[in-house]
Amino acid sequence: MKNIAIIGAGMTGLSLAYNLQEHNITIFDKSWRPGGRVSTRKHDNYLFDHGAHYLSTNHSVVQLNEVISRYNLGKEIEIDFATDYLKNKKTRKKIIIGQNGMNSIPNSIFDNIKVKSYLNSKIIKISKNSNDLFSLFSEKKEFKDFDYILICIPYLQSKELSKELIDFTQIFSEPSYDPIHTVMLSYKDNNNIKIKAGLNLHKDISFFMNQNIKFNELSNDCWVLNMSSEYTKNNIDIDKTELEKYAQSIFEETFDIKNEISFIKSHRWLYAQTKLSFNTISKKNWINSKDNKIFLSGDWVLGKSLSDAWDAGEKLSHYIKILSV
Ligand SMILES: Cc1cc2nc3c(=O)[nH]c(=O)nc-3n(C[C@H](O)[C@H](O)[C@H](O)COP(=O)(O)OP(=O)(O)OC[C@H]3O[C@@H](n4cnc5c(N)ncnc54)[C@H](O)[C@@H]3O)c2cc1C
Repeated sequence: MKNIAIIGAGMTGLSLAYNLQEHNITIFDKSWRPGGRVSTRKHDNYLFDHGAHYLSTNHSVVQLNEVISRYNLGKEIEIDFATDYLKNKKTRKKIIIGQNGMNSIPNSIFDNIKVKSYLNSKIIKISKNSNDLFSLFSEKKEFKDFDYILICIPYLQSKELSKELIDFTQIFSEPSYDPIHTVMLSYKDNNNIKIKAGLNLHKDISFFMNQNIKFNELSNDCWVLNMSSEYTKNNIDIDKTELEKYAQSIFEETFDIKNEISFIKSHRWLYAQTKLSFNTISKKNWINSKDNKIFLSGDWVLGKSLSDAWDAGEKLSHYIKILSV
């Protein structure tokens, strides 16, 4: 049994923790909750999945489906979906959502695997000790004696954290991300919009989704809008109120809404979705230190969805199992 530290309790880190339960796992996250970019926000009486929206029914990660059904984490729904709203293309689409919001998926996995964990613990340094074991440091504490360190956070942040222990000069081309500004908005009265989700609402809004189809308890009409990555890049530091007003005006104009808004809030995801994956560039499934003790993984290895994140963690876990025999 090895002492393994996992930095990041998003879907990648949870996949590793799930697959390596025979070891002594400790999982760290800087946030107060597991899930990372799978995030359900509650504001007063409003609920929004403002990170990952759904899981595709046709994703091909068998183990993720097994875990979702084993712990009863998801439900399949069928909705009217605009495959391209601007071109008036629609379909009926089957998707998988969390039983209680998308974050209930990582949250329940975290609760079920019952590994040692430190939330609210941002890891700021990793060091190798004279006994060849590793220490992790948060701002307040040192955590000692790890055989392996598995870093499961966005690429640039993991590079920064491990640059003294991994030789990045061999990585000639790097994975990249698109940023996304999201806007959560809500109306007291129902706007009776038929189409419940879709792509390309406007040149600056790449995705929209109704939240009432996910949360039966909602009495208000709640929506999440994703600004396009192009718009987000060009307006990365935009004032939040200006962004919210702009998104609201597009939404109301598009659906001819006359009702008054009851809530609006935005969020900036700097590393939202993988644009170019590491596997596409290198055909590799992780980045490792020369001594094979520190590993970098994340959705950025394989793609841009939470199933890619799970798959990346699962693939690395097979290698760690071989190494640790
Ligand atoms: C707006 C948006 C919409 C999306 N829509 C979809 C969708 O509909 N369907 C889909 O499949 N995917 C979607 N995605 C992508 C999906 O959310 C991600 O691919 C997946 O959640 C990434 O998981 P991860 O574990 O690799 O990374 P993350 O979720 O980013 O997890 C990393 C974790 O590491 C923690 N962390 C970071 N630095 C440190 C540190 N120094 N110390 C300790 N902890 C640290 C973070 O708090 C975080 O919890 C969307 C993403 C966004 C942002």
